[in-house]
Amino acid sequence: MALNSSDVDPSTWLIAGGRNREPGQPLNVPPQLASNFYLPADRDYSRAAGTETTVAFEEIMGGLEGGHALSFSSGMAAAHTVLNRLPVGATLAMPVDPYHGVKGLAVEAEEQGRWNILRLELDDTQGWIDAAKTADLLWLETPANPLMTVCDLPAICSAPRKDGTIVAVDSTFATPLVQRPLDLGADVVMHSATKFIGGHSDLLAGLLITTSQDLHEEFHRRRLLVGGTIGAMEAFLAIRGARTLALRMEKAQANAGELAARLDASDDVALVRYPGLASDPTHENAAKFMMGWGAMISFETVGSAERATAICEQVEIINHATSLGGIESTMERRAAVGGQETIPPSLIRFSVGCEDVEDLSNDLANAFANTRDM
Ligand SMILES: *Cc1c(COP(=O)(O)O)cnc(C)c1O
Repeated sequence: MALNSSDVDPSTWLIAGGRNREPGQPLNVPPQLASNFYLPADRDYSRAAGTETTVAFEEIMGGLEGGHALSFSSGMAAAHTVLNRLPVGATLAMPVDPYHGVKGLAVEAEEQGRWNILRLELDDTQGWIDAAKTADLLWLETPANPLMTVCDLPAICSAPRKDGTIVAVDSTFATPLVQRPLDLGADVVMHSATKFIGGHSDLLAGLLITTSQDLHEEFHRRRLLVGGTIGAMEAFLAIRGARTLALRMEKAQANAGELAARLDASDDVALVRYPGLASDPTHENAAKFMMGWGAMISFETVGSAERATAICEQVEIINHATSLGGIESTMERRAAVGGQETIPPSLIRFSVGCEDVEDLSNDLANAFANTRDM
């Protein structure tokens, strides 16, 4: 009898799921490098149905999130698949400052007169509840890039909706271990598996997970048409990464909680944003439904923007790099990124990895000490 994800702890499912236990089969599904298959066959071409490797990745992630999963060549390919089902004249409700790729797609469609965009602050719960009655798609991102704002997901997902309105949640920063939007009533969860799920900064991948069989089939059709299918090597690496997701998240979140508290107490830091801090503006929302606080911190350093950049350049264990979710810690000054000019100039986004917490703390302390004249 096949193992069911709901019968075991998520950490067990991540390790035990998605395996072919037939006698003689390898324990790990190998990367199946094939574009086409001998006919007649249910799977004839891999852009349509993927390969056994991509299907194994989808089985693991669908079981973990509690729905049907479909994998994509990147998080943006997945996001695009949800957004571009909106017809001409539709209304998209989205955060004022969503992930910049999502913002780019929305602005383009708005400028071409295709969609009406309703822009809402993530913590404007009543605004989202009202939007559920008028918009065709509610696109949420929580915790949000780069200020770690958490929305009241249970209230928004359970609000009465116009017929056909769907709620989609970009859950990349949380991972399926820290929040389960589908259980709260969301229709679709999107992940950039490039981040925590892959976990080693060595692949691009995306996921859409939905409880609706109809939406799943529609996404499948759209993936076939657009060609955003994940590659076999990426699916293989993503499975390898996902096997250790629970271990990595446990360590990274413990590190992040400790470092957020130390940064909050530091004279070199003006402001810390981390959902786990009781003082954080959206901590109360997070406490309603998150099963952890994640491993992402944003903090504003005291002094000039040049000092914040210098701190990123001084660290020797933390990596000065964009992106997030790797086993290795990364940080960057977010306002230095194009299209992010509204962000406080000294804000550093810190993706906390699995190194020893004292080593990370010392790395930051040294960088602070070496830049105090800036
Ligand atoms: C990285 C990211 C994306 C885009 O994912 P890609 O895999 O880079 O295409 C979308 N949303 C969030 C929150 C992200 O961090």
